[in-house]
Amino acid sequence: MVKISLQIRATLECIEKLYTSHPHYQWFLKLKCSSCGEVTEKFHDLTEADKVPQKHNRSETNLLIKCKLCSRENNIDVIEGSNGAFTSNDVGKYKSIVTFDCRGIEPVDFEPKSGWIAEAEDDGKKFEDVDLTEKEWVDYDEKNRTSVGIYELEWQFIKVNAVLVGPQQGGQTTSNESLEASGPGPWILELSTKDLCPAVDFNRLK
Ligand SMILES: [Zn+2]
Repeated sequence: MVKISLQIRATLECIEKLYTSHPHYQWFLKLKCSSCGEVTEKFHDLTEADKVPQKHNRSETNLLIKCKLCSRENNIDVIEGSNGAFTSNDVGKYKSIVTFDCRGIEPVDFEPKSGWIAEAEDDGKKFEDVDLTEKEWVDYDEKNRTSVGIYELEWQFIKVNAVLVGPQQGGQTTSNESLEASGPGPWILELSTKDLCPAVDFNRLK
C-alpha cells in the first residue's frame, strides 16, 4: 500500500479558503499501474462517498480498475479525514488537500474540474461549485463589493509516511497555530524534502 497526497498551490485574490465539496467531490485522476507501468489514457474519477464492492473480499473501495495491459485489478481510495483546505496563509507553497490509499496503482495526473468551494475574505461570500477546469476562476463578491479570483492553479503528488496518515485527530485543524506552522497539516508527515524538517518538528511537539 502506498499513500499519496495531492497538493495544490494557487494565487488567491480576496479568497480566504479553497477546498473541495468532499466527500462528494469527484477526483479525476490518470492512474499508473505499479506492476507494468501502463498509464490510463483517460482520467478516471473517484468520490469518497461512493463505494463499490471488491470481488476478492468483502471490503468496498472508491475505485476498482483493471489494467488494460497486464489485466491486474487495482484499487484506490480517498483516506477518510484527509481532506484539507488551501488558505490565504498557504499562498506560495504547496498544500495537501487529499490523500489516497493506493493498491497497485498510483495517480500521476489530475484534472481539477468543478465542485470546489471558495470563501471570500472578511466574512465575504461563500462560492459553491467553483469551476477550476481552466486553472483559474473569477467572480464578484457582492457582499464585500470586490472582485475575487483564483489564478495559476498548480498541483503535484507526493508520497507520504503511512504511519502518520489517517483520520484527523480532534477534527479539522483551523486554529491560527496550525495555519502558521510551516509545511503541511500536522496530521501528515510529508516526505517532500522542502517541508521535511518543519513538519517533523511540529509533529514531535504535539
Ligand atoms: Zn498493468
